[in-house]
Amino acid sequence: MIKSNGYAAIDLASKLTPFSFARRDPDPNDIMVDILFCGVCHSDLSMINNEWGYSQFPLVPGHEIIGRVTAIGVEVKNFRIGDIAGIGTVVDSCRTCASCTRNLEQFCLNYATQTYNSHDRKCDAITYGGYADNYIVDQHFAFSIPGNLNPAGVAPLLCAGITTYSPLRHWKVGPGQSIGVIGLGGLGHLAVKFAHALGASVVVFSTSPGKEADAKRFGADDVVLSTDPEQVAKYAGRLDFILDTVAARHDPNMYLQLLKPDGTMCLVGLPGEPMPVFAASLAFGRKSLAGSGVGGMAETQEMLDFAGEHGITAEIETIALEDINLALERLAKNDVKYRFVIDMK
Ligand code: NAP
Ligand code: ZN
Repeated sequence: MIKSNGYAAIDLASKLTPFSFARRDPDPNDIMVDILFCGVCHSDLSMINNEWGYSQFPLVPGHEIIGRVTAIGVEVKNFRIGDIAGIGTVVDSCRTCASCTRNLEQFCLNYATQTYNSHDRKCDAITYGGYADNYIVDQHFAFSIPGNLNPAGVAPLLCAGITTYSPLRHWKVGPGQSIGVIGLGGLGHLAVKFAHALGASVVVFSTSPGKEADAKRFGADDVVLSTDPEQVAKYAGRLDFILDTVAARHDPNMYLQLLKPDGTMCLVGLPGEPMPVFAASLAFGRKSLAGSGVGGMAETQEMLDFAGEHGITAEIETIALEDINLALERLAKNDVKYRFVIDMK
């Protein structure tokens, strides 16, 4: 077994504390990394608080991992010792089901193994995440990082980046389209950068009065204070696509009226409570309400390469692992610009 030192929530909603544990020995298809950076996703907070009802404790969060490769198995093709590699939210899948064979490993019909809080297919244990000093992962679930990008700013691309890039690509967002991004947080600010780079005109709907200048710097064409219904109504019937990144309960109906006929609103934020939708919000205009979850391995590598070409990284505040509890408190209060990244040094 491989020794690992990290931080864990020992039980429900507890403060994270130092935690030592063992990871499985690497197999011939695995790489082992020393973790350099790990992003702090709102999902980590939701898991610590068991908002989705399946958290297992002790829980070591973290699924936006950048590491330096320290060991490779004999079957490993694409990585060498010393390379910088990325690991996201999924670390294994069955590889044979209808989703896996379509490069949609995240939707594996036999359950994708999550980076943490998941049953490890290769041994009988629960996975522990990246708020720790090392990780062991099958080569199929590790990514090459463009050398021109700051690795700390790349870490959030491994979850927040692919979660926003994938639906933008799936719904073919591009030149000539107007799209909305709801919530300018970790996911939202990357959605703005990707949608702008894809050529769309972008409107941000934010509850925070102070984010306008940042949103425009990231590529937004307009910023609307979503707490003011009059400002929101200006966009009635004008948007081709909306990406909703909000982590808390809110009213989707207000935003559905902003879609053009045949437009789609895609939910990627995952509030722990249901949000009622009027059928009429969809029926009049033949609108679609959809969802999306991270992205497959090939698409994640495509997203990283696209980020390399367009110079896209996250806006980050780096913290030491010892300061994780303060960072989580600030994240819960929507006080982060725009992603905390743990520097493991
Ligand atoms: P985040 O950094 O906290 O950003 C969420 C943003 O939502 C905030 O910055 C804020 O933007 C807005 N917001 C917060 N509270 C709100 C409220 N009560 N009403 C309206 N807007 C509010 O979180 P994140 O890391 O981007 O994650 C966002 C959500 O995506 C979380 O639910 C997370 O679990 C989920 N997620 C899903 C996937 C997936 O695969 N689908 C992957 C990763 C994360 P403004 O200040 O601009 O209003
Ligand atoms: Zn995440």
